[in-house]
Amino acid sequence: MNSGRYTRQILLPEIGDIGQAKLAAASVFVVGCGGLGSTLLYDLCGMGVGRIGFCDGDIVSLNNLNRQFLHTPADIGKNKAQSAYEKLQAFAPELMLEPHDTLLTDDNAITLVSSYDLVLLAVDSIPVRLIANRACVSMHKPLVDAGIHGLNGSVYTYRPDQTSCLSCFYPETSKASAIEIPSFAPIVSAIASLEAQCAANILLGLPNPTDGRMLLFDGSTMTTEFVSIAKSPNCPVCS
Ligand SMILES: [Zn+2]
Repeated sequence: MNSGRYTRQILLPEIGDIGQAKLAAASVFVVGCGGLGSTLLYDLCGMGVGRIGFCDGDIVSLNNLNRQFLHTPADIGKNKAQSAYEKLQAFAPELMLEPHDTLLTDDNAITLVSSYDLVLLAVDSIPVRLIANRACVSMHKPLVDAGIHGLNGSVYTYRPDQTSCLSCFYPETSKASAIEIPSFAPIVSAIASLEAQCAANILLGLPNPTDGRMLLFDGSTMTTEFVSIAKSPNCPVCS
């Protein structure tokens, strides 16, 4: 680890040399290399998380570029995980970066995420969220979810055996939406950065305010609120 790179964050009392060593020893898997994934992956690399896996089965399109800063016009038509890998490898060559050019599915989820400490969702699909949730619940692995819609966003953390899982509030029968979600870069980046801070909280052992509580951000008023989510006694996944 080139510790000189991290001197400005080692100054934080919440991090210090011990925290930086924790981040260097940590591993995180990010599902999605689109808008949320762009800021999230850059933040994780900036922090110095030692091993970062990521997957995406989509290709880069022109209308991604208003918010998906990992990709450039030259990447149009390229797989997003591969495009992300090229930028992140140049940005943080000392880290272990592990791209997978595939969607997360029920068939590959456990294989993809089992060797990581933490899973971060950066997708707009509820079925993919539920696939990751089932894998994380079965493996007792923490999971952070984030979402955006226009000027609104949310962040939520599942902690094994402590909080409600995503299936406690997203029906298992949810279908993928065919409607394109309105997406604006400042909100996407803000929510992804809050998700990255949740990851840091978990990896550093700091209090994490989104454990079992959904943070709701309203970009039109720049206000946040927290909504506590009770564990569902009938949840088909965690009960
Ligand atoms: Zn549940």
